[in-house]
Amino acid sequence: MKAIVFLGIQGSGKGTQAMLLSRELGYQHVNIGDLLRAQIAASTPMGQKVQSIIEAGKLVSDDLIFELLEEAIDHASPGIIFDGFPRTLVQAEHLSDYYLVSDVIYLDINEEAALARMTSRLVCERCKSTYNQVSKKPARQGICDVCGGHLVQRKDDSPAAIRLRFEAFHRETYPLIRYFEAQSLLRKVDAKGEIEAVAKRVLSALSNKR
Ligand code: AMP
Repeated sequence: MKAIVFLGIQGSGKGTQAMLLSRELGYQHVNIGDLLRAQIAASTPMGQKVQSIIEAGKLVSDDLIFELLEEAIDHASPGIIFDGFPRTLVQAEHLSDYYLVSDVIYLDINEEAALARMTSRLVCERCKSTYNQVSKKPARQGICDVCGGHLVQRKDDSPAAIRLRFEAFHRETYPLIRYFEAQSLLRKVDAKGEIEAVAKRVLSALSNKR
C-alpha cells in the first residue's frame, strides 16, 4: 500500500494540508489524533485508556496506535495520507515495514507561529471542522460553517498541554526528520502563510522530485 506522510510540529497545518492533498490524489486521509478523539467521544475502552494521556499532551503508546491503524486503513484505497503518524522511531519503522512510503512532507514552521495558530484554534464539537480566529474565521462567531455545531477549544490546546506537546515533538518526532532524510524521502516545505499558498508548495515539492 502506497503512503505519503505529513510531519510537523503541532500547529504546522498537517491536518489541513493532508486533507487537501487527499482530495487531490484520491487517497485515504488517516488522522490519528481524530481517530483517538473519536474513541474518547464514543467512550470505548481504548478511549477511556487514552483520554487523560491526550489531555495532558503526552504520547499514546505505540501498541495502541498500531491497533487503531489496523482498524482504520481502507485497503481498497489507492494510497494513504498519514497525518500525526509516525511520531516515534518505533512507529516509523512499522510504517517502513508495512507501507511503500513515496514522500514525507515536513511542514516547517517556527514555534512562535505554531503557538499563535494553536491558541487561536477552534474545533466543531460535532463535525470536527477546524477554524482559526486569525486566518480561518467562521462566518458566525462560535458556530460551524459546515454543520452549525458549536465551536470549542481542544483541551490539549491549553498553554500547559501545548508546551508538553512541543517537548514530545522535539524528543520523539524530530529524530524522524533525519530518519526519512537518510532514505531521500524528506520534502521540506515552508508552512508559513495562507493555506492555499502552502498547499501549492506541497504540490510543487511532490512534483519537483518526480
Ligand atoms: P494531534 O491531533 O495530531 O495533535 O494529536 C493529539 C494527541 O493524540 C497527541 O498529543 C497525542 O497524545 C495523541 N497522538 C496522536 N497521534 C499519535 C501518535 N502517532 N503516537 C502517539 N500519540 C499520538
